[in-house]
Amino acid sequence: VYDSGLNKNITLDDIFISVKTTKHYANTRLPIILKTWFQLAKEQTWFFTDTENKFHQIQTNGHMVNTNCSASHQRKHLCCKMSVEYDHFLESGKKWFCHFDDDNYVNVPRLVSVLQKYNHLEDWYLGRTSVYEPIKIYKKPQNKFTFSFWFATGGAGFCISRSLALKMLPVASGGRFISICESIRLPDDVSIGFIIEHLLNKKLTLLPEFHSHLEQMKLLQPESFKQQISFSYSKHNDDWNVVNVAGFDTDYDPTRFLSLHCFLFPHSKICPRG
Ligand code: UDP
Ligand code: MN
Repeated sequence: VYDSGLNKNITLDDIFISVKTTKHYANTRLPIILKTWFQLAKEQTWFFTDTENKFHQIQTNGHMVNTNCSASHQRKHLCCKMSVEYDHFLESGKKWFCHFDDDNYVNVPRLVSVLQKYNHLEDWYLGRTSVYEPIKIYKKPQNKFTFSFWFATGGAGFCISRSLALKMLPVASGGRFISICESIRLPDDVSIGFIIEHLLNKKLTLLPEFHSHLEQMKLLQPESFKQQISFSYSKHNDDWNVVNVAGFDTDYDPTRFLSLHCFLFPHSKICPRG
């Protein structure tokens, strides 16, 4: 029998897609996701926010989780959300934990087909680095170099197999993740890398198909969009760092995510051909 190397037993239903969001972006970033890629993974995607919103609760069929974490960009509060995301994944019993930010577009079918190449019963930490060197930890008082590790940038999205997530349980579950963040004083995504690479001694596997707005989105070629797992956008003053894709007016679709969605899935309801 021909072995494609793919584990076709993995389907979308085996993936827990978690999106970190906040009330500050409830009327800007969230509606874009709800109109686009969320429609392809309604049952598998959960939003971790910091408030109650009845309208969004109805729109997502109850998939908004109020983490009760503070609505701020401070390390402690972002780690608080990641901690709740991780605990909900454990609770879900799913095979893969995939985290994204609310300025990510997730190419759902591609996410599934990439995960089919990896065994969830093995330890996998899949993502993309944002830095060209590993994080280096120096010990006080002499600033002596102690160790280094890689981490997958949260703003590009990353996935962790259930096997590996279970090994993180003693240090990360039940809110313990927040203590880890606080003890090393590093952001949530870096702390995930610290736990996996340093404490558990497992390696990050680089998947260049994940993308954060630390890259120039316009460098991605339309011919390659189908192969990418995630996209992002950002705005500095009046400058948008966005995917270069034809479609809707930039006034109507400044982030380009609606156009990207119609490029990938032209028959969606929101698209001219839908
Ligand atoms: N975020 C949050 N609370 C805040 C600000 C941001 O939970 O007060 C979330 C936001 O929804 C996003 C992530 O943190 O998923 C990163 O935020 P943002 O894109 O604004 O900043 P970046 O770190 O990418 O510059
Ligand atoms: Mn961002």
